[in-house]
Amino acid sequence: MVGAAVGVPVAWFYGLPWLVGLSLFAGLVPDLDAPDATLKHWTINLGDRRRGTKLKPFAIVSSFMTLIFPHRGFVHSLYAALTFGLVGAIIGLLLHLSVWWPITLALLVGYISHLLLDALTPSGIPLLMRGDWHLFPHLRIPTGSYIEHLMVALAAVVVLGYLLTAGSAY
Ligand SMILES: [Zn+2]
Repeated sequence: MVGAAVGVPVAWFYGLPWLVGLSLFAGLVPDLDAPDATLKHWTINLGDRRRGTKLKPFAIVSSFMTLIFPHRGFVHSLYAALTFGLVGAIIGLLLHLSVWWPITLALLVGYISHLLLDALTPSGIPLLMRGDWHLFPHLRIPTGSYIEHLMVALAAVVVLGYLLTAGSAY
């Protein structure tokens, strides 16, 4: 939700509301290195809902990533964020998308917001691959805490508020 919220200024600036979806997606990507990643369970139903083929596109990616990278390892570093943004930019340029830069920016802010939020938790993140980095030296917000729920709620208000006003503008 925070990943989507940080995409709001980018989407608003470029007048492209769908960028919020991209930054939401980017905010979920870093946890593909976790055994219980949200994106892992994302399913595409082909044909009939019950008997049709079910595709979990990120399940393979995630299994692969959990094999190579430890949870909150490289994938949670600044290097991974920059690599992710670069891949987004290259794909955008290869597809000759005129909006490759807004796309790259939305992907970057979503990804980085995830890293910053994890840097608020007690375990921190390996920002530069050297030890655990915390956003604030003396502040630790445990996962599932009251402050976390408050941040999610605030982010939801920002996203819904933006999407409603953007929707009524068209
Ligand atoms: Zn994470």
